[in-house]
Amino acid sequence: MNERDSEQVARMFVEGGYTVTKEEKEADAILVNTCSVRDQAEQKALGKMGMMGVHRQRKPHVVYGYMGCMAQSRGQELFQNIPHLDVVVGTQKYHKVFEYVDNILTKRLEMRMDDPALSLSGESVCDIDEEKDSQNTIRDHVTQENQTTAFVSIMQGCNMRCSFCIVPDTRGKERGRPIPDIVEECKTLVAKGVKEVTLLGQIVNLYGRTEFEKVDGKSPFVQLLEAVHEIEGLERIRFTSPHPIGYRKDLVDAFTYLPKLCSHIHFPMQSGSDAILKKMRRPYKHAKFVEICQNMKAARPDLAITTDIIVGFPGETEEDFQATIDTVKELEFDNAFVFRYSKRRNTPAAEMDGQLPERVKEERNQALLAVVNELSVRKNNELVGTRQEVLCTGYSKTNKSRLMGRTAQNKIVIFEGDHDRMTGEIFDVLIEETTGFSLYGTPVLK
Ligand code: SF4
Repeated sequence: MNERDSEQVARMFVEGGYTVTKEEKEADAILVNTCSVRDQAEQKALGKMGMMGVHRQRKPHVVYGYMGCMAQSRGQELFQNIPHLDVVVGTQKYHKVFEYVDNILTKRLEMRMDDPALSLSGESVCDIDEEKDSQNTIRDHVTQENQTTAFVSIMQGCNMRCSFCIVPDTRGKERGRPIPDIVEECKTLVAKGVKEVTLLGQIVNLYGRTEFEKVDGKSPFVQLLEAVHEIEGLERIRFTSPHPIGYRKDLVDAFTYLPKLCSHIHFPMQSGSDAILKKMRRPYKHAKFVEICQNMKAARPDLAITTDIIVGFPGETEEDFQATIDTVKELEFDNAFVFRYSKRRNTPAAEMDGQLPERVKEERNQALLAVVNELSVRKNNELVGTRQEVLCTGYSKTNKSRLMGRTAQNKIVIFEGDHDRMTGEIFDVLIEETTGFSLYGTPVLK
């Protein structure tokens, strides 16, 4: 989601006549889009900005800014420890970043650049207010040549209050974009060569529930999937992340009649223990989560399911942890992101009794990862010798002499071939080997 927000901001700068660079020393403005989900991510963002102050000696006009969740939650306090910081913009104000940065930069460049004291003048800005309809401002893209996949933000915010999560404070209440706007954005992407879109939301399946009506018993999210599915030239649709709440029959059924929906869901479970789910304020039971997964596999037998799991939550006993291990084995997830619980400020879980020592969290983390990795390797090994349909996305990220793509189950496949001819194409690849996490094979071209 942050990546998508960053792209929107980059697009506004490009439209304003700027060029986007990844080289810090070339930049006239340096913006860090921040995540607050993990404390580690915040510390990294703080350290990064601190270190970048060195450029100010050499280029006094450079504008420095924070955007995103940490900007939203810490606001004005960020200026206290980072003297070179100029701009702090929250999650509902991405569309204002260009204006704020451009104003400061223009003022600085108009001043005499041989006088560093003057060049550093220019108001700093902190804007973390709520903004009505801000969800409708994340809609433009900076498409690259040969881009085949794209993220589309369909909503902002979350009305849940999971006890470990800071998102409801940083992203606000659920707000969905109108279906016609989203469809239009997808059509524009397809016209530029995109073949696959991933619809993004904090709880994507609850899209539009407070704004739009059900039609024929179908939720606004299923209506949206049907509308996007109609787009000619679009080959694949993904979405992330759904929540067990609101994961109803209409969405399960959609996988039986919408073939462009990819055979993969990333479905956060968080824990296999009812006691821990309750402490997490996740309003479902383990049995409900399992039932949805089973219904989904019945609707789409080749479905891959990946998940998020937190280990070492306050009060988690050995039995609770074992329940999580048992559920992972029962559901045979294709992969899982395993997180050691870490306190987030201003969240109820941070104040709960029963905080576990880091050693216990780390042991459980390693034990669960071992189970997850074994499952993942086994599943990939089962694919050796089969043909898998792959959308080629371009060069392999680690070896530019090879190409890569993803299966409908979201597995990475590496193969050799002609970049210009094959990028953006969907074809079968005969899987010949796996290193455990990636698949390798030979394209079977018609
Ligand atoms: S559902 Fe829970 S974990 Fe997900 S964004 Fe909302 S509050 Fe956070």
